[in-house]
Amino acid sequence: MPIQLLPISLANQIAAGEVIERPASVVKELVENCLDAQATEITVDIEQGGRRRIRVRDNGAGIPKEELALALSRHATSKISSLADLEAIQSLGFRGEALASISSVSRLTLTAKTEPQEQAWQAWVEGRDMQAELAPATHPEGTTVDVQDLFFNTPARRKFLRTDKTEFSHIDEVLRRIALARFDVRFNLVHNRKPVRQYHAVTKPEDYLQRVAQVCGKSFTDVAVGVEQQAGPVRLWGWVAPAHGCRHQADVQYFYVNGRMMRDRLLGHAVRQAYGETLGDERTPTFVLYLELPATDVDVNVHPAKHEVRFHQARQIHDFVLQVVRHALHNAATSTNKNGAS
Ligand code: ADP
Ligand code: MG
Repeated sequence: MPIQLLPISLANQIAAGEVIERPASVVKELVENCLDAQATEITVDIEQGGRRRIRVRDNGAGIPKEELALALSRHATSKISSLADLEAIQSLGFRGEALASISSVSRLTLTAKTEPQEQAWQAWVEGRDMQAELAPATHPEGTTVDVQDLFFNTPARRKFLRTDKTEFSHIDEVLRRIALARFDVRFNLVHNRKPVRQYHAVTKPEDYLQRVAQVCGKSFTDVAVGVEQQAGPVRLWGWVAPAHGCRHQADVQYFYVNGRMMRDRLLGHAVRQAYGETLGDERTPTFVLYLELPATDVDVNVHPAKHEVRFHQARQIHDFVLQVVRHALHNAATSTNKNGAS
């Protein structure tokens, strides 16, 4: 075969292969877009585990009519425009790929209204060239992305979907992670027309534990000890369970770096090490932790799904997390002993 450019739809499907593994990946991308648009309320509507429909509606800034078609094309983003922006990233998105990828493997419509617009507009793409179509629509200020029939045209991917129940539980987990990242936003999750979760907005830090209890269970918040320490521009805060209160399953292990949930080996190792020998073989570290540092000290452009980061000063970050968590656990242990003795 001679060398030829791939049709746009195929190039987008290949890109989708990297990040859109299942309905939950769609939910993650769409909800992150809502947060980047400053939404304060986000509703995720799921039908049949997401295979039939994933609809995400927000009350954020919306998208102007003239930009709807661009929003659906690959490498089009409003979030960065230079390498300097990429190296000091403030938003969750920056790749400009999610909507193009998702719309190449589903029937996607994008509906939005911005504040100055009288009229809302809806856009979708069709064909090999993914030409955008536009039509007037009814929608309050904000954006709705409606994704139907995910993987209808990529049977290999569709085959790997599990039962509706399993797919929904992955979506539920994505929403838990995001709910812990943004206490100030209200989230609603609906499955097959039944409201399943409602996370009310929490604005005061002293009330954050209410949401943590809702997401992680009271069995965690009843034993958890607070963590908070700052060293220069680096701050670690959150909650850890003392060894005796740690879970047998690794289901409450939430680590955020600048508001982004991570599965980072370095950080996982630091927390594990902070527990030392106290955990034994059966228990596993149980924590909700937030690391905040200057955006320029961390590279998020490592993995397409952004699960991993690279710290410019990895050793120092590791040791800081280790020391702060160890200190919190140590304090908790000595104060329980005191209580026990009195
Ligand atoms: P990225 O998030 O990396 O920029 P996406 O493909 O996810 O790429 O989105 C493309 C663009 O569409 C975004 O940069 C943004 O301008 C716009 N957009 C997507 N979703 C929303 C939303 N819910 N509200 C407002 N704008 C949105
Ligand atoms: Mg995005």
